[in-house]
Amino acid sequence: MPINIEFTRLRYRRTKIVATVGPACSDPGTIGRLIEAGVNVFRLNMSHGNHASHTEVFQTIRQENESRGTHVAILADLCGPKIRCGTFENGAIELTAGQSVIVTTEDVIGRDGLIPSAYDKLHLDANQGARILFDDGKLELSVESITGRELQCRVVQGGTLKDRKGINIPLCKVSAPALTEKDYADARMMLALGVDFLALSFTRKAADIELLKKVVDEFDHPAAIIAKLENHEGLQNADEIIATSDGIMVARGDMGVELNPEEVPVAQTQLVVAARKQRKPVIVATQMLESMIDNTQPTRAEVSDISHAVQSGTDAIMLSGETAAGNYPVEAVEMMDRIARHNESYQWQTEASGHFKSTEATPPIPLHHAIANALSTLSHDLQVYCIFVMSRGGTSALTVSSARPSAPVIAASAFPRTCRKMNLNWGTVPIETDTDAIEANPRLAAKLALTSFGAQQGDRVLLLEGFNANPSLHAPAITVLIV
Ligand code: PGA
Ligand code: MN
Repeated sequence: MPINIEFTRLRYRRTKIVATVGPACSDPGTIGRLIEAGVNVFRLNMSHGNHASHTEVFQTIRQENESRGTHVAILADLCGPKIRCGTFENGAIELTAGQSVIVTTEDVIGRDGLIPSAYDKLHLDANQGARILFDDGKLELSVESITGRELQCRVVQGGTLKDRKGINIPLCKVSAPALTEKDYADARMMLALGVDFLALSFTRKAADIELLKKVVDEFDHPAAIIAKLENHEGLQNADEIIATSDGIMVARGDMGVELNPEEVPVAQTQLVVAARKQRKPVIVATQMLESMIDNTQPTRAEVSDISHAVQSGTDAIMLSGETAAGNYPVEAVEMMDRIARHNESYQWQTEASGHFKSTEATPPIPLHHAIANALSTLSHDLQVYCIFVMSRGGTSALTVSSARPSAPVIAASAFPRTCRKMNLNWGTVPIETDTDAIEANPRLAAKLALTSFGAQQGDRVLLLEGFNANPSLHAPAITVLIV
């Protein structure tokens, strides 16, 4: 059956694209091209770069947005309790399977047979028999015994171990605090710039998010917090973490080392379902187009992976090395855009003209959610062109998006910050406009649909207004308009 991807109702891609910025794309020209290729959120990874370089990239993104009138958001990704090895005399050592090596938490320079851990509690957190993995699981040691600060280990999987590579100790609890001194400094620096999202790596429990919230509260603008789930503890506490944060990321890179690789897709499905149940945005991340770091074409498996994520109804899909350090950053975004659109067209056509699968809940449900469900039903039954949502802080638009309506959510806000934040949400097209004027004269929405969003005369649009910052003043109203 042919899939019509030119279908006008699908003019806007529903699944959002997050792209990581790095040396391969941080110049203004490439940032601009990435925006035009469809990036909705840029991720700045605090594991690399310094305050000066992050500030420069931040300003570049804001300028490229400004000149295009776009609202691409910025997400700063904090390292969290990611643990690493130290440095070596010659920048690297060779490990061979069967070899006996010592890992030490003393502050020394490494050499053949001696691996320094930059994390000074490794000898307390790892136990005898534990696995120590380096460099995304490429190298593996097994702990034979521990004396003082020294772990006597046997190499299980050898290879070259370079300076400062990541360490994972699956199933052992890392006692490092959720936020390191560096995380506090990075968070404050990015908040001072006005960052839209802060992501916390290795979130293990709701309290980790509460700690970061306190930092956000020091500033007068509310950045949204994304919890990155990447280990057993985080997965076990997923529901409370989702409830406390503003969204989650399925961080499959570290998750694939902390868990067995075959466990990751099921965890991904569970997390997407859990986040959608709580109506919070979810990002599926890592290795989505890994082979496009070096090639212009993705593997079939990568295309399938993105397709699966899109069909599961995730809010966003993410590129890491593909855009940050790859040879084809723009092509990778274009490819991701095409894959998402093709799958959305399929879903639209197979699920009764755009009835994207929604979440279920037992009533009574919160007012916001019930209104969102009603809008979703109306948008499907009337085949409306778009849904205008008047949003000050972004909550109304988020809830409408979470009901996965068949029509795009045109999320109007007078605040650029709200527009950027809403850009992560599935099916949401933010516009910065005078919402008071539209609330006073709903016909303005129909006019806007015609002049700015490609609607045609006779198309129907919906308008949602009336939610208040003070819940006791909520008076939601749905208006059906004909263009
Ligand atoms: P990272 O997080 O790229 O910061 O490690 C994502 C992941 O682990 O998948
Ligand atoms: Mn990670």
